[in-house]
Amino acid sequence: MQQEECLVISRTRRYVELVTKNGDICLGRALNSKLDTCVGDKVLVSQEGRDKVVTEIRERKNCLSRSYLGKQKQLIANLDLLIIVSAPEPAPNAVFIDRVLVASTNEGIAQTIAVNKSDLTDELARVQNIAKIYQELGYEISFLSAKSNLGVDELRMRLENPELEIVGLVGISGVGKSTMLNRLVPTADAKTRTVSEKSGQGKQTTTQAYGYIMPRKSAAMPLILVDLPGLQNFGVSHLSALEVRNAFLEFSSFERDCQYADCSHTVEPQCGVLNALREKQIAESRYASYLNILEELKASRPW
Ligand code: GDP
Ligand code: ZN
Repeated sequence: MQQEECLVISRTRRYVELVTKNGDICLGRALNSKLDTCVGDKVLVSQEGRDKVVTEIRERKNCLSRSYLGKQKQLIANLDLLIIVSAPEPAPNAVFIDRVLVASTNEGIAQTIAVNKSDLTDELARVQNIAKIYQELGYEISFLSAKSNLGVDELRMRLENPELEIVGLVGISGVGKSTMLNRLVPTADAKTRTVSEKSGQGKQTTTQAYGYIMPRKSAAMPLILVDLPGLQNFGVSHLSALEVRNAFLEFSSFERDCQYADCSHTVEPQCGVLNALREKQIAESRYASYLNILEELKASRPW
């Protein structure tokens, strides 16, 4: 049977929306319920009568997940880059950013932070302190404005890199992700409508990843830009305490001074991380995020 490799750009309970190698979009369904596809999956599809049927999911190189109502939800597979969008308004949410960094670091996903609405010069000071923290940690930060088109061409240029195939956009509601998406993919608005009509589910209330096809000038393949709309928080209780500790990259050089190898960096008397925090070598907001995540882990495993 002839099979074709496609990429999953959205899914509902019943259908997967696929893009073929030559850029056509079609609807398909999974062969069985074990084939739990995720946006970003590369799948093998065969034609059965008039139906496209997904028969196999190719091995994923990574998969970004979040925990929601006690369950791990897979959001996007095979990410080459995750753009974490922040803004001066709504006020930057360091806990959210750190949670996304932790989840994506654990999957080995490359990250970049984009501060949108940098045309709001009076409010921008709010973000600058936070931006500095991440810059010092080695994260790349760019300032842009989807509204006034500042820095958008630079972002588009960057996305022309043929090594990028699937790029995710994540940020709390209101930071301007849709505006940015519409700048990058002018047909994005129309596209959203077609799909909700097709799937007949109307507006999604829970977060559903959706992949937009961004044509590129220099790269032969279009870029799949995956939006995660409607996020207010980012649960990470699917991770272990060790995975969380390891994702706070700045802890590693201080952990050598901890008395115990499995130090939790919370109550231990001789703790390199707590010392570094007291000496202001670790940012308070980062440590607060760490505690916040540990609380979530504890609440999800009360035993
Ligand atoms: P989303 O919830 O992240 O998708 O955010 P939207 O794209 O819907 O934008 C939320 C609000 O921020 C809207 O009123 C936009 O017009 C506004 N907005 C988006 N980008 C910018 C920007 O670069 N600068 C300013 N000042 N406002 C923006
Ligand atoms: Zn410690």
